[in-house]
Amino acid sequence: MTTARQVRCPQCGRNALWAPENPWRPFCSERCKQIDLGCWASETYRIPVETDPNDPESSIPEADQA
Ligand SMILES: [Zn+2]
Repeated sequence: MTTARQVRCPQCGRNALWAPENPWRPFCSERCKQIDLGCWASETYRIPVETDPNDPESSIPEADQA
């Protein structure tokens, strides 16, 4: 029987070991921790850009091709 606790990784939702041997807790891995820390700097949490109907540059070029 193990005494290790498991928590849910905030990043990927998988079980993460909550123990001294897991330096990345509450994340399951270093990768998940890095993703979470860098989420705002990456495209993961990028806010969708809405096109401006008044800006011809943002219209779909293919629709204008004759
Ligand atoms: Zn994870």
